Amino acid sequence: MTVKSKGLDHVAIVVRDLDAAIRLYRDTLGLELTQVEEVPEQQVTTAIFGRGMGRVELICPTTADSGVARFLEKRGEGLHHICLEVEDLEAALGALRAAGAPLVDQSPRPGAGGARVAFVHPRGARGVLTELREGPKD
Ligand code: ZN
Repeated sequence: MTVKSKGLDHVAIVVRDLDAAIRLYRDTLGLELTQVEEVPEQQVTTAIFGRGMGRVELICPTTADSGVARFLEKRGEGLHHICLEVEDLEAALGALRAAGAPLVDQSPRPGAGGARVAFVHPRGARGVLTELREGPKD
């Protein structure tokens, strides 16, 4: 079984100072800031640059004891995860399970923008936390 991937949806970078990071990505690197959103369930604030595929997402913890805060504490700023857009998230999880890849999420959960998402553990993706996303169908 092969996952039907449509490509890179976004890369997510964890940062300590969201305002400073926004200034870098918007004012110095010239990317278009399209959304800033607090996500209480994840205890983070996110800033999205660009539209459609290939976006950049900055994530900054809002509390000291969330998963993202622990990640930042342990590894420092840098790449947090990549996200691939897939055609069928359940089928993708099935294919990964069959391939023996450890999954963070056994089943899809709600993500930003009406999408459904699930994470593959870094141990199952060559050291990179990998998000799979199935966008809303219209
Ligand atoms: Zn993401």
